Amino acid sequence: MSIILYARKSVERENSISCETQLEYCKMMIKPDERREKLIELVDNGFSGGNVNRDGFQTMMKLVRQRKVKKVIVYKLDRISRSLADFVNIMQEFKEYGVEFVSSQEAFDTSSPYGELIMKILMVFAEFERTSIINRVTQAYHHRSELGFYMGGRRPYGFELIPTTIHDKPSKKLHPIPAEAEQLRYIFEVYGLENLSLRALQSRLLDEEIHPLDGSHWTTAKLSAILKNPIYVKADADVYDYFERHGVQMISAVSQFSGNFGAQLYGRTKHKSDDTDWSEMKLVLLSHEGIIDSEIWLRCQRKLEKNRQIGRSSSNPTSWLAGKVVCEKCKHSMTTIKGKANQNGELRRYFNCTGKSHKKICSGPKCTVYVEDLEQMIDDCITEKLTEILKETHTANVQDPAEINDLKLKIKAIEQSEKQLTDSLLLGNLNADMVALLNQRASQLKEKKRLLETRLEQIRSVQKECGKPIDLAHSWKHANYEHKKAVASILVHQILISEDGSTKVIWNI
Ligand SMILES: [Zn+2]
Repeated sequence: MSIILYARKSVERENSISCETQLEYCKMMIKPDERREKLIELVDNGFSGGNVNRDGFQTMMKLVRQRKVKKVIVYKLDRISRSLADFVNIMQEFKEYGVEFVSSQEAFDTSSPYGELIMKILMVFAEFERTSIINRVTQAYHHRSELGFYMGGRRPYGFELIPTTIHDKPSKKLHPIPAEAEQLRYIFEVYGLENLSLRALQSRLLDEEIHPLDGSHWTTAKLSAILKNPIYVKADADVYDYFERHGVQMISAVSQFSGNFGAQLYGRTKHKSDDTDWSEMKLVLLSHEGIIDSEIWLRCQRKLEKNRQIGRSSSNPTSWLAGKVVCEKCKHSMTTIKGKANQNGELRRYFNCTGKSHKKICSGPKCTVYVEDLEQMIDDCITEKLTEILKETHTANVQDPAEINDLKLKIKAIEQSEKQLTDSLLLGNLNADMVALLNQRASQLKEKKRLLETRLEQIRSVQKECGKPIDLAHSWKHANYEHKKAVASILVHQILISEDGSTKVIWNI
């Protein structure tokens, strides 16, 4: 049995995460006792999630149907398909062949009871999917480079500061010191490629008599600060994605992340007991050339992160709608930031237009859209839709009996053809070509029958859920953050916030 790691890079978003990075995240989901399983990496580069005619995807389904697969791991749910109906069908087929399905970003696991709940909810929606997916190829925005200032602070190891002017203002530019840059390259490579802790890295440098050229000493804190600093990376789209996903406010446009220049992270970090909140940090691309390849730099970040994650129970959620909310006026994404405390001393997170805060090209909504309010609204919308659908079908009791009967008839007909085929094979007197032909026909029939049976099973389980409409809506109400995130990631395409603060939800249904 094998474990498939499946990655798809969208054509829709120019800054979408690379397949290699997706696979790295998938690998982190492999449990220690699964390390001996055969890993198969399947990749579809530049394909849309709108249809299933993708080579890697088809190979995966073939292996699934041959019962060679134990588990499928993806980076995000929408890597499988962005069509709700397709997604549900694929999940159904995984279930049929006993394939476990795990998504790294949404904590979605079909083998858990909540995974089942999510599937039920999605199935009910899929059953009533009315409209085809609207054109969701997003427009790419380009902004001319506006920044490039070194934002201040001490000289980063590896660079010297050279006075310069940017946009007629005096500033400082970073210039690499070759001997120090060489050491840095070595440090990133050793940490990124070898299985070393920071402490082991420190002793390795000592052993090899590689000392800082500024007369100081390597400490684990110093090494950690160096490894984390984006000033060294040749920042590309993957680096952009990495910081964006961590909630950092992105000052430079993604189109500038060409894989040449270093970046600077600045602003306030807030350390909570178990995590670092980056929501008040900003990332700006600078005008100096980076010295570390993005791949190796990101590899180091994942390693640092993984080491930090050991012993940590929960991540720091921002909103289960994160990544879905867009400012209608300027079409920039809206990220969550912490607002001022209210009279009860509570800090409320709100959605902030990045077109306003980072690019100064938009005035943003005129009123504050609080995270909890928007979440509540979407939560209510889903409950309402769910209840409505379930009630309707409950009253109608049987959903489309004609279709069920039709399916049964078709299955019956196939079974009869199968019987005839077996009979002919048993009769003998057939040459090899004939036998091959009949076998081919038999497997075609089997596949056709399987599809019909899957569909029948699907209708039945939806019917079963519709028989007790209150339960499912109730379960949804009590689903936790991760599960709401999983359902929303499939059901909601985008949420547009207009200037007056009103909301438009574009559903995937
Ligand atoms: Zn805006």
